[in-house]
Amino acid sequence: MIPARILAFILVLALLALPAIVPPFFVTLMSHIGISTLVVLGLVLLTGIGGMMSFGQAAFVGIAAYTTGWLTTALGWSPWLGLVFALALTAASALAIGAITLRLGGHFLPLSTIAWGLSIYYLFGNLEPLGRHSGLLNIPPIALGPISFMSQTAMYYLIWVVALLAMAFSLNLLDSREGRALRLLRGGTHLMGSVGMDIFGTRLRVFLIAGIFAGLAGWLYAHMTRFISPAPFEVKVSIEYLLMAMTGGASQVVGAALGASVIVLIKNWLQDLLPHLTNNPAQLEQVAFALMLILILRFARSGLMPLILKLVRRSPHPVRPEAGELPKRQLPMHGAPVLEVDTVERRFGGLTAVNKVSFDVRAGEIVGLIGPNGAGKSTMFNLITRTLSVSSGTVRFMGQDTSRLSQRDIAALGCARTFQHVKLRQGMTLIDNVVAGTYLRTDAGYIRSGLRLDRAEEERARLEAYRRLEQVGLSERAYDLAGDLPLGQQRVLEIARALALDPVLLILDEPAAGLRKKEKDALAELLNKLRGEGLTILIVEHDMDFVMNLVDRLVVMVFGQKLREGDPATIRRDPAVQEAYLGGLA
Ligand code: ADP
Ligand code: MG
Repeated sequence: MIPARILAFILVLALLALPAIVPPFFVTLMSHIGISTLVVLGLVLLTGIGGMMSFGQAAFVGIAAYTTGWLTTALGWSPWLGLVFALALTAASALAIGAITLRLGGHFLPLSTIAWGLSIYYLFGNLEPLGRHSGLLNIPPIALGPISFMSQTAMYYLIWVVALLAMAFSLNLLDSREGRALRLLRGGTHLMGSVGMDIFGTRLRVFLIAGIFAGLAGWLYAHMTRFISPAPFEVKVSIEYLLMAMTGGASQVVGAALGASVIVLIKNWLQDLLPHLTNNPAQLEQVAFALMLILILRFARSGLMPLILKLVRRSPHPVRPEAGELPKRQLPMHGAPVLEVDTVERRFGGLTAVNKVSFDVRAGEIVGLIGPNGAGKSTMFNLITRTLSVSSGTVRFMGQDTSRLSQRDIAALGCARTFQHVKLRQGMTLIDNVVAGTYLRTDAGYIRSGLRLDRAEEERARLEAYRRLEQVGLSERAYDLAGDLPLGQQRVLEIARALALDPVLLILDEPAAGLRKKEKDALAELLNKLRGEGLTILIVEHDMDFVMNLVDRLVVMVFGQKLREGDPATIRRDPAVQEAYLGGLA
């Protein structure tokens, strides 16, 4: 086991020393690897981590290369101005495509990026000022004061400095507030919404970052080769970038460099080898790549990085008790109205899942919502948290009509929830899952996080998460993976995440399901204590002993309608409730 920092240091030293050791053609090859690494890095963030597939990255590289190519040759501008315009144009096109397609989800992004990639390629090939298929010649080298990046070695250093900085930026980002949002994209929209994260905004920003990395690659490429033509910006090449990402390990930042190295080297080797075997080497190369893609998909889904990660020891990230506290919300006065549900209805086609239900919840109470399966309890919770819209009626939370609010707004007003079907990132640690809950109480953005200027706030957020884990009794397992917990404990972990929002109202959907007796007692004790601290709780739970001993008031739902409301003792004795629900249980 080698510590990660030492390995990184050795690799950087090797990169520094390389031009002195290897022949010039290999330095050029390494430059190509560095450029590909930048593009693939964008795909790691976008596809591997964010779960969005793009076949348009080569087109972004092309936009940047042609922008700087044309400005520096036709207009004679400096490559630095070329850089500014190249990045501006790639960013603008990424934003435009993203704004149109990222809300749609599903296959819209891959399909539209294919269309985009094809059209950009034909555009380059048919525009007279861009030299059509023969491209642009005599692109000037980059110069920085007295330093010229004319030589291949100088370009090599420039390219790898940019690639390593981009990797550092990405690693920092992933270990931050917005990086968590990015990593939660695959956990589903409801999870993100429940902690106040902006799904569309997160998608758009990562698409933009991937575009900008590709733009940087295009600028470097144009001034390295000093000649551009449409071919390197084809959709086919975009697929090669995806192949690189998958070879390296699509969700690993360092995998971008690994995958780019492997594929560029194999490609180079094939280009030497195939002409000896066939007189149609270009097509055979395609076949070889297609075969590799299939083999990777079949046998090594997570790429090569996991093999390397086994050799590396990464130091854990302990919480520091002296980090300080996140800002806390002022809770409403005991008895003040927190939630007002007024003749709320929700229909699913012909089914009325919630039928004209009204009830209130006041500050400092625990209210139980009970009823047989299918009564509409979870739907009620989804209406309150704006995961679903009401068909008619109103829900007011903290005095505000929620009909115009989003899930995020509700979370920002202080409503935190858990889910009947647990929504956690199983592959993330307990503490990482819980820190996600602090999203709205922190504000480091992409730049601050990428530059690692967010540490003080991040330490506070982690300490807060640790405290919430302590509160629910899971702090001893803070650094285990969420997926290693039994399902019942995963529900408790969701409570810790909800508490990290510093909520006014905590909404729990069957929190005790799957817990053992002792764990249930501990949960009841925790909820009691939270009520004592002024928190308001609305809970759905089937375990009647648990509910009856805990709540101040019960609302009973049956077939979408409210059957009764009252204190637990009265409800327990009510014949209608006994018949409809408690039946054999009471
Ligand atoms: P409970 O949580 O009380 O068991 P639910 O609120 O989950 O009940 O479901 C109430 C009714 O609404 C059920 O008949 C269920 O099938 C239906 N339902 C819930 N969500 C949807 C949905 N998204 N689309 C269609 N029907 C739904
Ligand atoms: Mg339910």
